[in-house]
Amino acid sequence: MIPYGKQWIDEDDISEVLKVLQSDWLTTGPCVTAFEKSVAEYVGASHAVAVSSGTAALHALMNALDIKENDEVIVPPITFAATANAVVYCGGTPVFADVESDTLLLDPAKVEQVVTDRTKAIIGVDFAGQPCDYEPLKKLATECDAVLLSDACHAIGGRYKGRDVGTLAHATVFSFHPVKHITTGEGGMIVTDDENVAHRMRVFRNHGITTDFKQREEKGHWYYEIEKLGYNYRLTDIQCALGISQLKKIDAFLDRRRKIASRYDAAFSNNPVISPLTVRKDVLHAYHLYVVKIEFDLLSIDRETLFKMMRDEGIGVNVHYIPVHYHPFYRQNFNTGKGLCPVAEKAYEQIISLPIFPQMTNDDVQTVIESLDRIVHHHRKHR
Ligand SMILES: *Cc1c(COP(=O)(O)O)cnc(C)c1O
Repeated sequence: MIPYGKQWIDEDDISEVLKVLQSDWLTTGPCVTAFEKSVAEYVGASHAVAVSSGTAALHALMNALDIKENDEVIVPPITFAATANAVVYCGGTPVFADVESDTLLLDPAKVEQVVTDRTKAIIGVDFAGQPCDYEPLKKLATECDAVLLSDACHAIGGRYKGRDVGTLAHATVFSFHPVKHITTGEGGMIVTDDENVAHRMRVFRNHGITTDFKQREEKGHWYYEIEKLGYNYRLTDIQCALGISQLKKIDAFLDRRRKIASRYDAAFSNNPVISPLTVRKDVLHAYHLYVVKIEFDLLSIDRETLFKMMRDEGIGVNVHYIPVHYHPFYRQNFNTGKGLCPVAEKAYEQIISLPIFPQMTNDDVQTVIESLDRIVHHHRKHR
């Protein structure tokens, strides 16, 4: 089976992890700071806070921005549910704004329609690795006195109008899950230029412990204080060593992903049934996913059948994503459901994610192309 995504761990990664295992610091040691520093430098942000997952990163950010009951946070429906879940963790209400049909990125015009005086933040999601349209989103956020945030779990290494992902919003979240660009097993990071937000997230990831060194000196070395509730969302030194080693290879990983994507682009360019998502001219795509829309009206099979046929041929296709507002949790607690975001809902019926990961060979890519082409060709409706 050719999976839809897969990590690439080499001997260098393994030896860096082994060094930490043999050291005095398994967690909260020097590798954490070093990893934060290298990610901050890579994306060009002033502060980076490492946490135990991308989801923890979103939660820490919502907490640092004081999202609470009666607050609304605008999110797109085409994302991993964690984007919206993080709002709910803090008692806030995720408000779904529809996406653009050609890119599946948050549509600024739809955002404008759902803004209220309770809107506290807008989370842009760089779906598939393409930065969303930050300029109009930023303008809207400023107008309604909300914060623009970026869930860039798909898009580290991407660029928008010449600027790096990680500098496009007030704060940006990354994930280091194995299917993402670089991995720490599980892991996440928030980057921001806002020192206060960074500080709050550091406290939050460590139980809410605030007492600084000076206070401890005065009151005894055992002394600490918890002012606000926090969690244990720390990332270990073992994981950070892996992250540092992986980050050294990210440009090669990105380059390979882009090359695979251009092979797919070329293969499907004249196919009336298979349409890759549109890539805007002013972005550099990071290609976490390669998503195509299938014109099932022209076929005698549906998505489920196509999906199963490709899986049977050993192609690990996937669907990203079930619109978040379709999930029973959201239907039951936030009164969402079909009809709320028609563009996302229609796209959901048509999308399929093809395998893409740096170690994928050109032969693998060709196998995927031929499988999809053949199935589509054999099931064209008679005209
Ligand atoms: C992967 C992902 C997350 C969550 O990251 P984890 O590290 O798996 O917790 C959040 N948002 C998006 C868009 C993601 O792809």
